[in-house]
Amino acid sequence: MKRNRKAKILATLGPSSSSPKLIEELFIAGCDVFRLNFSHGSIETHRSNIKTIRQIEKKYNHATCILADLQGPKLRVGNFANKEEKLVKGDLFQLDLKNELGSKSRVNFPHPNIYENLTPNTILLINDGRIRLQIIEQKKDSLKTEVLNDGVISDNKGVNIPDIILPIDSLTTKDKSDLMKALEMEVDWVALSFVQQLEDIKNIKQIVKNKALIMAKIEKPSAVKNVDEIINAADGIMIARGDLGVEMPPERVPIVQKNIIKRCRSFGKPVVVATQMLESMITNLVPSRAEASDVANAIYDGTDAVMLSGESAIGNFPIESVTTMNKIIEYVEADKNNFDLEFETQELNHKIDNTDAITNAAYSIAKNAGAKAIITFSVSGKTTMRMAKERAPVQIIGLSPNIRTARKMQILWGVNSCFSPDSENATEMVNIACSVAKDKKLVSADDNVVITAGVPFGNAGSTNLLRIAKIIANKNLT
Ligand code: PGA
Ligand code: MN
Repeated sequence: MKRNRKAKILATLGPSSSSPKLIEELFIAGCDVFRLNFSHGSIETHRSNIKTIRQIEKKYNHATCILADLQGPKLRVGNFANKEEKLVKGDLFQLDLKNELGSKSRVNFPHPNIYENLTPNTILLINDGRIRLQIIEQKKDSLKTEVLNDGVISDNKGVNIPDIILPIDSLTTKDKSDLMKALEMEVDWVALSFVQQLEDIKNIKQIVKNKALIMAKIEKPSAVKNVDEIINAADGIMIARGDLGVEMPPERVPIVQKNIIKRCRSFGKPVVVATQMLESMITNLVPSRAEASDVANAIYDGTDAVMLSGESAIGNFPIESVTTMNKIIEYVEADKNNFDLEFETQELNHKIDNTDAITNAAYSIAKNAGAKAIITFSVSGKTTMRMAKERAPVQIIGLSPNIRTARKMQILWGVNSCFSPDSENATEMVNIACSVAKDKKLVSADDNVVITAGVPFGNAGSTNLLRIAKIIANKNLT
């Protein structure tokens, strides 16, 4: 499967897209990474979707990436006797541990271990910030608050508390159980919600070991503050603008987005821009102009990937949403003003190790020798990740003898990630590289390609070889 773009598309599966036919259509339309949202849907649905995705992977001979997104410690109020209540500015409203249905004056808030941290004046945001409550009195089992604006509160609505680091693990009991099942189903990436600090990443890494890569969702002000150490410890980042735009004023989100994308590139870690990208396509066949601009600008910012949530999970036009995103990316990438690649590369190359030296040289050679592709052999995927960071103007073909690595790397900017047999010597390596590139119709006869690999072959972390080869019509090697 050949895509005519560098940036990648993540699409979330849900009731609008959980059939083999629709999943295949999403894939054909351009979905590179399937996101399974563990906040919704049964384990059985996730399991059967994974089975479908793996069948499609086989049918199209195209390594396909799966991201399991864990719900995390999303705080919620309990239910109401009347399902909802209208609160008025100036009202007093209590949150407490009483296991009773809510009323106009109180509701259950079943998170006992955070009451102690919620000191007077702390602001609670209910239902994506639609209602603001300010704490005026705090006890160990109840919080008396003042309603700061008129609004409706209803069953099970989410609560955001942006101001403080909460004493809660970013892996709840449900998350731990979901995580075990996701790992057993061999997902490629696991996304962790409401990360607050470095410890959250360390904890999940201890459980996951190297069974999957970890994506930290940046959706709390504390995560924005600690973003460098989080990027450094995680394998990738999601800019989760939905909760982030509730936890901090929405006008700050675009700047945070630009900064995090830059930081991720500097670390050589993939970054995903998420949420509300084509929101109106949940009900409309065409995006708003502002949404088209939003997707385009994320690409101009240099993101590895953009993500669809409700648009593909619960919307009326899941396939059209992917097609629209695909078209916007293709247009932006064809614009000669798209992302000043060279300048950024130079600016960001501060720490150089052997792998960086090789990938940086591959980038220059590809440009100067007019090569059509860069082919990276990578057991662990590390070299392919570093190659993506260079933002080379040519296609990167990431080869790995480990299918699980090949799947994980499909999220990277500019990388067509493929499983390939292991090679035993340099001649075989060039043969394999050229024939995979040719078979997948990524290059044609007479094209030059640049190849990187590590000798001895088959070892992770030893990239030390760079080679230029010409594709010839009937033989693989020149
Ligand atoms: P969610 O994360 O969809 O799991 O809430 C994304 C976001 O908050 O933007
Ligand atoms: Mn979120």
